[in-house]
Amino acid sequence: MSRPYNFSAGPAAMPESVLRQAAAEMLDWHGSGMSVMEMSHRGREFGQICTEAEDDLRALLGVNDDYAVMFMQGGATAENAIIPLNLIALKPEQAADYVLTGSWSRKSFKEAKRYGDIEVAAGAEHERRFGDVEQAPYTWVPPVAEWRVRPESSYVHFCSNETIDGVEFVEWPEAAELGVDDVPLVVDASSHFLSRPLPMERAGLVYAGAQKNAGPAGVTIVVARRDLLGHALPVCPSAFDYANVARESSRFNTPPSYAIYMAGLVFKWVREQGGLAAMASLNEAKARLLYDAIDASGFYRNRIEPSVRSRMNVPFTLADDALNDVFLKGATAAGLLALKGHKSVGGMRASIYNAMPLEGVRALVDYMQAFEKQYG
Ligand SMILES: *Cc1c(COP(=O)(O)O)cnc(C)c1O
Repeated sequence: MSRPYNFSAGPAAMPESVLRQAAAEMLDWHGSGMSVMEMSHRGREFGQICTEAEDDLRALLGVNDDYAVMFMQGGATAENAIIPLNLIALKPEQAADYVLTGSWSRKSFKEAKRYGDIEVAAGAEHERRFGDVEQAPYTWVPPVAEWRVRPESSYVHFCSNETIDGVEFVEWPEAAELGVDDVPLVVDASSHFLSRPLPMERAGLVYAGAQKNAGPAGVTIVVARRDLLGHALPVCPSAFDYANVARESSRFNTPPSYAIYMAGLVFKWVREQGGLAAMASLNEAKARLLYDAIDASGFYRNRIEPSVRSRMNVPFTLADDALNDVFLKGATAAGLLALKGHKSVGGMRASIYNAMPLEGVRALVDYMQAFEKQYG
């Protein structure tokens, strides 16, 4: 029996072949007589799993040894605190600037405020006009020319794909465009990590919770320029000090070993698919199919400025909210799962990460068109 298509925003669908391989290796990994979750994180076997995962990820991203690649715990939410704890003291003013483009960047900003002199670099206008973002979701990305980054800031933070609002940075700014020297970019790329080639070399630090597009929940990927490490505040927990984690190759303390193993299988799967360029063209085709269907109908609507529509998370509304429950019930019956939108935005959301095949999006579009015919 084939499995239904799962449009969950996260934890999200995994490639089926990865799940099958993990199932086959569950009781005995490569003749070791152990499940991966039963192994010492200091042993030879897990050492191999962790090193391969890091090597495969480096190959996919194209990052060299100027960057540390770390597997951590606590999710992107914990990173919202771990980042200022590690980086805010890069300059004596202990300041940082945040670009607001939606729910997640706003959460990052709020958390960071506990650790330094934090200001909004862009997006404040939206807040002034609409108040709480929960009342008025973001629909665009402020151009870099409008960002106000202070020269004394230790870094500038943005979220390159807003999972809830459905806006995506098509490009990441180059250092020269910021109008200040020596203010590294810090990027929450959780929900489009590995979806396409990303300009990692422009960033000082990129972080991503795995459960959107890179593996199961439990491991957070952090890629950071090594020269930014080693400046943690004295109160930073030692297990969250990037200098410790990087020095010990993600094994300063017990890492989320099984989640790293699963993410490692996903990295190999992405490489087998042809790497990030291949993922990008598949993801573009999927997104185009869905947005075209939405735009062609008078019944469905996506309100994001077309040039910054997310290729991973596609929120849309029905002409009549009273039909939402009927739509969702019919979708589940048709084998299309988890389409309910986030409560702050309402309507529907289709997350179409790497593991979602083109046929899954086609099945969704077919269902949407049949639904419109019946109820529109
Ligand atoms: C899901 C998500 C988070 C939060 O991740 P947790 O693992 O729940 O902490 C943060 N940022 C973005 C962009 C996300 O998609």
